[in-house]
Amino acid sequence: MDLEELEPIEGCSEELEGAMKCFRDNVTKSYTTNSRRWSIWSLLRNHFDKPIEQWLNNKGAEDFFQGESFSVFCKSKGPSEADLYISQRYKRYRGSIPTPDIDTLRNLLLFCHLTPPKSTSTFFYSKTLTSQYRKGGRTPFCELCWKESQAQKELDSGENFSLKSDRFCADHDPRDPYSLYRTDHNNRQAFYVNLRTITRTGYYYNIKDFEQRQHSRWVAYRMTKLHIRNKDISVMDFLLEGFSQSEIARRLGTSRQSILKIKKKTESFITFWKEIRTSSYPIDPEDLTVWESFDQAHPG
Ligand SMILES: [Zn+2]
Repeated sequence: MDLEELEPIEGCSEELEGAMKCFRDNVTKSYTTNSRRWSIWSLLRNHFDKPIEQWLNNKGAEDFFQGESFSVFCKSKGPSEADLYISQRYKRYRGSIPTPDIDTLRNLLLFCHLTPPKSTSTFFYSKTLTSQYRKGGRTPFCELCWKESQAQKELDSGENFSLKSDRFCADHDPRDPYSLYRTDHNNRQAFYVNLRTITRTGYYYNIKDFEQRQHSRWVAYRMTKLHIRNKDISVMDFLLEGFSQSEIARRLGTSRQSILKIKKKTESFITFWKEIRTSSYPIDPEDLTVWESFDQAHPG
């Protein structure tokens, strides 16, 4: 499971959402199930035990983990045992605990158990030989955009290994106060929603090559910068099908003015959206020329 998939499920309670975001921001690949210094369980304890206690109190489900703290519960059980326990307890508290909350917890558990114990200690091995790298599971991209992470760049160029980030590119380095990290971190969710939306179209269907994946990330990043969100996409779909503004407004249960606003906002993007909607990723790289002016598109 990739770090980028570690998201609170939509509709989950705010106690969990907050804890999940803090946890995400602090977890690195050094945290594993058996490390003492970088124990994933201590990280869980620091970020989740209190919020989860609070959350269960608010839901009237204090007894959910039968007196154990959440981190102790996770640590003491194997992944499938813990998952089964949670599903069974959930049946009992179904009335008071929302499903997205339970799914968020199950995702988190899965993530923690998949942080593989490390047997090698040098940074070189941690970067090149962990099972995630061997399987190619870890994405080579910066979490917030389409560029390669700094560590991936080093790997590619054969430079000496340093402690550069395997999560961010140089432009999004959280340690650099002048980087774009703060700005784009706030758009993280929108970026991944956009990425999911476009990679589920025929255009990016089943893409695996580095360049293709990079392309989809670039498009999603730019879309996010153009402030395009899901509701704008439904409007563009109706527009492409030739519906009138008032008809779209009626169907989406909103005003004509708001449709007009979205129409203006998406003006510079709709031709690209049409490309994504109606064709497939070109085999011939020359057919990608349609994207050449995409960098010049600006928010309407
Ligand atoms: Zn980046």
